Amino acid sequence: MPIMTTEALIERMKGIPEFILSKTVYEVFMSVLKHYFLSGIQKIMEVGCKYCTHHGDILMFHQVTNDYNDWDDPNCSITYRSFKHLIESLVVQEKDFSALEKISPVANINTIYITFDDAYIDVLTQAVPILVQHNIPFTVFISPGFLGKPKYLTIENLRELSRMPLCTIGAHTVSHLMLRSTPQEKASYEIKESGKILSDYIGKPVEFFAYPYGSLYACSKKNCLQVKSAGYKMGFSTLNCSVTTTLLKSKWFLPRQNVNEMNYLQYIKR
Ligand SMILES: [Zn+2]
Repeated sequence: MPIMTTEALIERMKGIPEFILSKTVYEVFMSVLKHYFLSGIQKIMEVGCKYCTHHGDILMFHQVTNDYNDWDDPNCSITYRSFKHLIESLVVQEKDFSALEKISPVANINTIYITFDDAYIDVLTQAVPILVQHNIPFTVFISPGFLGKPKYLTIENLRELSRMPLCTIGAHTVSHLMLRSTPQEKASYEIKESGKILSDYIGKPVEFFAYPYGSLYACSKKNCLQVKSAGYKMGFSTLNCSVTTTLLKSKWFLPRQNVNEMNYLQYIKR
């Protein structure tokens, strides 16, 4: 093996600082830093919310099925058994189930709002019959780009849901992308167009919007302003806490608590 000369070594090292300071590495580093920073801020907000006046809890579900093999993400899935147990327990506890339209500072601490994201077909076939049985209102936030794909609602399913008096349809961007990292013009289009497409399908206005991924890292203040200027009445995040008076003052980043198979019991024990 040839021995590297000093000149050759110096020549090779010239590239190292350039690599470290290259745009790509810098961007990745800043993105990781931003992720930790914003996740920290979100945690602080969630802890702070515990000490504020509460006006109920918005629960967020995705898949509801007993078939574990069908789950896309265990963090966003619950079995039919557990979902039924949770809803029936909350009914026994005489929780005040309400529709998102009625969110307000006069709502009491016992109010529960049920929401689903992403329009999985099992929402219609598994979860909705239980909610209808107990006369519980619910909202489904839909990305129209998912409609008709395997495991998701079809356009006809969507129309069937929207005809139910207990159901509200909300928008969730067209193609379910992370808005903070999307160019402003495209983000604005995705926010506005998703509501327009859904509204055309169901023949009703679509007034509520949920940010895909929903964390502080996933959507910026600019995205919240885009939701406001698109004409929606409220924007929903995945801030993991109860609805508080402070959060209700600005309606563009309202909290929703992700419920899944691992954590659903904590909502019964409250
Ligand atoms: Zn989603």
